[in-house]
Amino acid sequence: MASFVGTFDEFIKYINPRVKNVVNGISRAYKNEVGQCEHCESTDAVLEAAHVTGRERPVIIEEVLQDYVNGELVTVDLEVFENRFIQAHDPISEVIKVLCRPCHVQYDNQVKSTPEQETIEVVIKNSEAESGHISNAEITDYLRRVVPSLDEAEIERLLSLSDCQGKFDVNFAVLKEIPAGSDMDTIRRYAQVNGYNRWSTRRPIQVGNRMFLVLTQWYEGNRGPFLRWKSELSA
Ligand SMILES: [Zn+2]
Repeated sequence: MASFVGTFDEFIKYINPRVKNVVNGISRAYKNEVGQCEHCESTDAVLEAAHVTGRERPVIIEEVLQDYVNGELVTVDLEVFENRFIQAHDPISEVIKVLCRPCHVQYDNQVKSTPEQETIEVVIKNSEAESGHISNAEITDYLRRVVPSLDEAEIERLLSLSDCQGKFDVNFAVLKEIPAGSDMDTIRRYAQVNGYNRWSTRRPIQVGNRMFLVLTQWYEGNRGPFLRWKSELSA
């Protein structure tokens, strides 16, 4: 069975075209079922499948890959990945919007910077130092390592939405506290906001008798602030 071994960015570069076909396959029947643009209700336009904001293809890819990342390296059986990626589109109505071309363009333009655009930028620049690039997996791995050694005041700042917005310009707090000893169902509930995963359900961070989930929603504008915070910590 074919396996992929490489970084997250390489995964996007080599596997994304294949994943696009999978999305087309998933959404074809659904488009017919919906039968009209979900925005303007046009029935005679050619319908396209748009990923709902926050559930873009690279976001789902990264979520699935969280289980297969070790440090910077992703090691995954491609068939296993594809099955999990397809599962992540269920229920499809929460992930895919059926839109006509003009409504699709308008919908995408509402999002100022989609993760997909970021990924392309990163591949083109390919210069970590200049772009200040650090992958989402690197950020979450770093947090999992460093948080147990932080003092309580710093942890409280990472739990505070307003502090995190001020420091990293993120939309959710960097850490989410969950009850100690939570089972998987509880963790899943805490990890979501309005049905979308914002914190990783994997490898909760244990500090004394407290447990925290780590934010997965890191976009281009958050990476520089994160790197600055990281260098201040280690200074
Ligand atoms: Zn439309």
